[in-house]
Amino acid sequence: MSQSKIPLLDLKAQYETIKDELAVAVSGVLESQRFILGPEVEALEHEIADYCQAAHCIGVSSGSDALLISLMALDIGAGDEVITSPYTFFATGGAIARVGAKVVFVDIDPQTFNIAPQQIEDRITPRTKAIVPVHLYGQCAEMEPINAIAARHGLAVIEDAAQALGAEYQGRRAGSLGTVGCFSFFPSKNLGACGDGGAVTTNDGQLADKIRCMRVHGSKPKYFHKIIGGNFRLDALQAAVLRVKLKYLDRWTADRQRNAANYAKLFAAKGLDGALATTPQPVQDRHVFNQYIVRLSDRDRVQAYLKEQGIGCEIYYPVPLHLQDCFADLGYQTGDLPRSEAAANSTLALPVYPELSPAAQQRVVDEIDRCYEALGKNTTLRHAA
Ligand SMILES: *Cc1c(COP(=O)(O)O)cnc(C)c1O
Repeated sequence: MSQSKIPLLDLKAQYETIKDELAVAVSGVLESQRFILGPEVEALEHEIADYCQAAHCIGVSSGSDALLISLMALDIGAGDEVITSPYTFFATGGAIARVGAKVVFVDIDPQTFNIAPQQIEDRITPRTKAIVPVHLYGQCAEMEPINAIAARHGLAVIEDAAQALGAEYQGRRAGSLGTVGCFSFFPSKNLGACGDGGAVTTNDGQLADKIRCMRVHGSKPKYFHKIIGGNFRLDALQAAVLRVKLKYLDRWTADRQRNAANYAKLFAAKGLDGALATTPQPVQDRHVFNQYIVRLSDRDRVQAYLKEQGIGCEIYYPVPLHLQDCFADLGYQTGDLPRSEAAANSTLALPVYPELSPAAQQRVVDEIDRCYEALGKNTTLRHAA
């Protein structure tokens, strides 16, 4: 039986549709020989600021660097504590540790996989300086209670919006909801560069000026340094590529949302949406589905089976940050943050990319169904929530 493979993400399919435009954009930068900052980066910054409903945007070298430069610009460092979710990509916790601050993890809401606001206040101490909510998989964290807690305690809010460009919370865009918003243009993000890239957004003009200055080693004017920054620049070539792709982002997002809605129907039609599989809850807000995540009974066996069938799927993330070796000195044990641990042990990302066909989606769900049949999971588990 040789059925065609279904990748987790098909960047070539996207490339085919915009190849010519990208070639023109790239050759424009090559002809200009302006590779460092300049007009393409400036134009993209205006476009991203508009898109995020934020007053300012600073293009930077990656999503990880967006987090790092934001923490640096907020003067967060040794002796400070920063609260975040352990169920995220490593960079979220890594950036906090890299500035010398202590990472304080708060468990997630199992429904959304985002930080549970009710648990934040218990972990605030006189040393707490900021909260870093992560808009995981493309859905915004509960920003209203988070901002209220931050305001009560005088804390900064750094949105890790790396997976959430265009996501909304109560009608407002990710990147305009906290003190600063951090974005990634890693190729697998909804707006992906041809390499690394990132951005910081903010409504705070002074903070924007500081980040802009820190992006070039804190140099202002050139060769005079009042503060220490680094090389955090976004390449002009990447900016030119991103400007082409940004025009298509809303269309791609709509396609991702359509695919997500279709999965929900397909799972329900098989009676899988219950004890065997849990699909994302429908939300009022704009979820941009950077990943489509299901909770599965016997997750590891289903994943192995899908891989054998040539279906791309991935575990995001297998080890929550509080249990990573490099954070052992923080003293967390297995069982301390049970909802994050349960998520790490039960979730699987399925293909949801914009170009994914309905037939391919049907096959993904058919194969999961077949796997449960093979595992002897009988009908009593179906439709049983
Ligand atoms: C991708 C990602 C980052 C880091 O972005 P890079 O551009 O790869 O450095 C940070 N946080 C989250 C949640 C991410 O998904």
